[in-house]
Amino acid sequence: MSHKQVVLVTGAGRGIGRAIVRALASPERFIYIHYSTSEDSAKALSEELAQEGKPSRTIQADLSDSEAAKALISEIVEESGRLDILVNNAGLTRDQLTVRMSDEDYDAVIQVNQKAQFILMREAAKIMMRKRWGRIISISSIVGLKGNAGQINYAASKAAVIAMGKSLAQELATRNVTVNAVAPGFIETDMTAVLAEDVREHYLATIPMRRLGKAEDVAAAVAFLAGEEANYITGQTISVDGGMNL
Ligand code: NAP
Repeated sequence: MSHKQVVLVTGAGRGIGRAIVRALASPERFIYIHYSTSEDSAKALSEELAQEGKPSRTIQADLSDSEAAKALISEIVEESGRLDILVNNAGLTRDQLTVRMSDEDYDAVIQVNQKAQFILMREAAKIMMRKRWGRIISISSIVGLKGNAGQINYAASKAAVIAMGKSLAQELATRNVTVNAVAPGFIETDMTAVLAEDVREHYLATIPMRRLGKAEDVAAAVAFLAGEEANYITGQTISVDGGMNL
């Protein structure tokens, strides 16, 4: 397989991940469309890209399993011999007020949103360092910057993503590997579709632009960070939130 760049987007069967794949896809890039349970939509996305002459394939892993996260990168590197761009997008919520939150709900969110991201970053860094080029982009959240009632687990994981990225950015800077984060506000996806109408109204009132964002808004920031134009930007977090983090 010889392509200019090999890309992995996690959680790419739906939502923001799917929009990121669409924004990054090109005839010169081979994209691994990772999914856990959304096999049909991941495969449909890969077929759509094939019609446009943009190469990709789907790849499955449950990121609640650390070994599966590690195997995800080794499968790609064995097959392609490289990994140039890693977009750590897969994530989940298990919301509950702190006094009622179980250890299981805390651990489940930390495992996928934080530990799996660490493993994917570490394994990707090994190959990117050797190639002297790479881009690691993690999807954090406004909640990682400001906290949110009922999301102590999610807030911890999303703040960790930023802190881990800043640490790795310092380790990899001389190797021409950049590590950045994107922090979306409230974006129209399955994750926010479950919110009750009054909660949604409450959030809308906190957004200066008075509307939810689109997955494509987040994808555009990721595409910028993945490109050559961003080659002197590392350890940063771009907020895509209609002004929530002002
Ligand atoms: P979504 O529609 O709920 O999609 C979640 C994605 O994560 C799916 O692709 C899912 O894969 C994957 N995922 C969940 N558990 C997984 C597991 N155990 N192993 C592997 N993959 C798993 O969410 P979204 O809104 O697109 O969110 C994408 C990212 O943006 C997340 O990190 C989220 O925290 C972040 N974010 C979202 C918002 C928002 O308002 N929507 C705001 C800030 C940050 P399968 O479907 O294949 O199972």
